[in-house]
Amino acid sequence: MKVSIDESACIGCGLCAGTCPEVYDLDGSVAKVIAQPTAGNDACAAEAAEGCPVDAIHIE
Ligand code: SF4
Repeated sequence: MKVSIDESACIGCGLCAGTCPEVYDLDGSVAKVIAQPTAGNDACAAEAAEGCPVDAIHIE
């Protein structure tokens, strides 16, 4: 699976970085993907996408 963040939609709430810090991190007020999910953390990467309040995380 591959994740990406719509930076124009992100409101910088930090939920994704808190849920799955190996994949997401906050860069100022916008979240970034710091590493694509692996077998060990794709569950939390998907959980973060589901929890994003503005649906800014996209999974391919
Ligand atoms: S959960 Fe969504 S809105 Fe919040 S920081 Fe992450 S991508 Fe941005």
